[in-house]
Amino acid sequence: MTEIISNVPINIAAVNLGSPGKLMPLHVASLVAALSKNGLTSSVAWNTGALKPNDSLLEKEQATAAYGLEMGYQEDFDCNPAFKVWCKNAIEEALSKGTLEISSCRVIACRGCNSPLSLDASGVAPDVCGGCGNSETFVTDTMVLCMPISNWPEELQLAAAVYNQPSNWAGQLASLPEKMLISKPRLNGVSLEDFGLPGLHLDPRVTNAAFIAYQAIERNADHGWATLASEHLYKVAPFIYGFRHNYWPRIGYIGISKMPVNEVLADPQNVAEIGMTSVMQTLAALSLDGKTWVNNPVRVKEITGHIQRHRIEKLFLTSIDALSKSQSGPGFRASVIGLAKAIPLALKGTKP
Ligand SMILES: [Zn+2]
Repeated sequence: MTEIISNVPINIAAVNLGSPGKLMPLHVASLVAALSKNGLTSSVAWNTGALKPNDSLLEKEQATAAYGLEMGYQEDFDCNPAFKVWCKNAIEEALSKGTLEISSCRVIACRGCNSPLSLDASGVAPDVCGGCGNSETFVTDTMVLCMPISNWPEELQLAAAVYNQPSNWAGQLASLPEKMLISKPRLNGVSLEDFGLPGLHLDPRVTNAAFIAYQAIERNADHGWATLASEHLYKVAPFIYGFRHNYWPRIGYIGISKMPVNEVLADPQNVAEIGMTSVMQTLAALSLDGKTWVNNPVRVKEITGHIQRHRIEKLFLTSIDALSKSQSGPGFRASVIGLAKAIPLALKGTKP
């Protein structure tokens, strides 16, 4: 069995030298792949929706190099024309199976460009239109693309495997409306013009979920996995649901904790001791244990202590050793579960 691990596509325009925290899901994907000896490859997924035609990718290159992300992975961009064609075919297939539908609905629309912003039944519209930036709205009936959502959270959970679920995960799924509007006014993305919805694009949350499946298909992988901050899981993972009958590879997500990257890097001694790559790998490994690490000065002190006591190398050797003896099976699952268990124990100085 082959597997691929990447991150949920990160907004490429938001990655720069001042935002090391944004790179954490990339570090996790690359670390898990490096520790797995079982056919797990890693890739980095970029969301290019906010890029302007003449934007340079230099800042992204500088940031990934400066923050120690070793370029042993492949990169995938969601502006890839082949992905857009594939997405359109996937929508067509889902429409034919009835898991997506195009119909006339009562919507809250933008006064500036007349685009539907949300279903009237939801009662909420975004503060500004994603297409033209106008903030005035009105209610009307118009054709839209929708994803009906199951009333049973269990069925939703079957659509994608989710590790490190937040404690209120079932509640978050249960709070989703019965029907989601997934055609949105956007400047970039997968155009829905061919479906009779001019000016509208596929909701970026759906594009994010679909891109994980696309990467797996492109790499001939049986499973595709993505890393994502736990608090954002519910904003992406459920959107694979409308494509559940599309015969895609199995998709899964691993929730990671937000890490105090800036605080740890603020102490120059931390980087001087073990180097940027090891610092970021340490933070990446710790982010898998599901604890709250941000806004907690005690935890920052804890991480700094481990770095400065030269425990990091020992920590990784212990973790890799634990992984190689792991009985939980090959690939992603064994690596992530192994890491999530081994790292905190190794930090405490206990044998895993
Ligand atoms: Zn508008």
